[in-house]
Amino acid sequence: MYDDLSVEHFMEGLIKRNPGETEFHQAVYEFVADAIPFILENPHYRKAGIIQRMTEPDRTIIFRVVWEDDAGHIRVNRGYRVQFNNAIGPYKGGLRFHPSVNLSILKFLGFEQTFKNSLTSLPMGAGKGGADFNPKGKSDREVMRFCQAFMTELAFHIGEHTDIPAGDIGVGAREISFLFGQYKRLTREFTGVLTGKSLEFGGSLIRTEATGYGNAFFMEEMLGLQGMSISGKTCTVSGSGNVALYCTEKITQLGGKVVTLSDSSGFIYDSEGIDAEKLAYVLELKTVQRGRISEYAKKYDCEYYAGKRPWGVSCDLAFPCATQNELEKSDAEHLVANGCMAVSEGANMPSTMEAIEVFHKAKVLFAPGKASNAGGVAVSGLEMTQNSIRMSWGAEELEGRLSEIMKRIHQKCAEHGKGDDGYVNYVKGANIAGFIKVADAMLAYGVA
Ligand code: NDP
Repeated sequence: MYDDLSVEHFMEGLIKRNPGETEFHQAVYEFVADAIPFILENPHYRKAGIIQRMTEPDRTIIFRVVWEDDAGHIRVNRGYRVQFNNAIGPYKGGLRFHPSVNLSILKFLGFEQTFKNSLTSLPMGAGKGGADFNPKGKSDREVMRFCQAFMTELAFHIGEHTDIPAGDIGVGAREISFLFGQYKRLTREFTGVLTGKSLEFGGSLIRTEATGYGNAFFMEEMLGLQGMSISGKTCTVSGSGNVALYCTEKITQLGGKVVTLSDSSGFIYDSEGIDAEKLAYVLELKTVQRGRISEYAKKYDCEYYAGKRPWGVSCDLAFPCATQNELEKSDAEHLVANGCMAVSEGANMPSTMEAIEVFHKAKVLFAPGKASNAGGVAVSGLEMTQNSIRMSWGAEELEGRLSEIMKRIHQKCAEHGKGDDGYVNYVKGANIAGFIKVADAMLAYGVA
């Protein structure tokens, strides 16, 4: 059994079993390209069929969500929860509300979450969920009715010791509050079943900032290993959501200059840099007014490029923080040609495989999201701890813990990804370091 464990043969079988799930294929390929050679050197994993088990979710739950819009029309969406792997802790991972949501995207996210959560060193398994619901353009009441309908089914499948969802694209503080309120109503329990909650009902300080801050910390570690730092560097950031904005804040605090932000309609280029005051405006624009990034260009009289991504702008450091596959081969080539020395992913799988190849070939430092954006789930883990012990830690303590966790993740990646020439392949490092802990736990449980 498993005689031919080549990457090609394995992928052939995986694609056959999961037809049409292109994002899931991509995430698995990126992983097994490093994991299979490692497994061949460590045959006990091969004999136990670990890689075959790891690429099959524990279970996927798909359900109908019915709600009524403000005009009295009945709307139907599809809800999901993919419980991927609970070898090292209860399922943990975000919920995404976006019209593009499908099983392939949630399986890719759940799969990557397995290694990300393992890298944090905290006891968290992996899951991901969401719906093909578009919160954009909906009233608060419509979003509330959708969230309540969604949780009415999801509540059967989650719990503080089994599965603890959080936010992701389209699911921020407003949505988490509606979801938590409904869970509490249905179960008559006040438990830490969701993370990313508001401070009034069990949320953690720094959780909102954690993914973006963590991404900047990871970049600082990568540069530090080469005797450099963010200070004085020109940076491009994509997206203008939770991850992008707090990544921008931390880069600025560390002395870097962020010159771009984007949304799905285009990007702004502000050569003066996006300082704290301008960032406060974007936060208000995006979270309160729910407006478009083009309005920044009007307010601060800078350039706006409709329908374009920011990767053609000259920079030292790049931070893709919007969505999957937003940085393609030609974008990577532009970045390299313009002298970009390091890329740290805030989003999940924003760079295509071809783009990563370009970075590796040019010896650009490249941090994959499963390592560099782990700060969000790490602070979610700390939120769970605070809920269990019924305590709240201060912001300084939490930011210190986050920074330490990102340092440790960087160390593990560097340890497993360092080549003979000193160049660190962080993709390989994250894959191998993330794999070992989960694989060893699965081995310990026997055949299951
Ligand atoms: P938000 O919903 O807060 O923001 C998403 C941003 O990305 C928006 O600016 C959005 O623009 C843009 N975007 C979404 N889809 C596209 C697209 N197809 N093309 C271009 N831009 C797009 O989400 P988050 O900031 O929370 O998440 C961003 C990324 O970070 C995702 O990949 C997510 O999985 C990942 N991540 C998030 C974590 C978290 O803690 N929130 C943790 C770890 C990873 P628009 O408004 O126009 O849609």
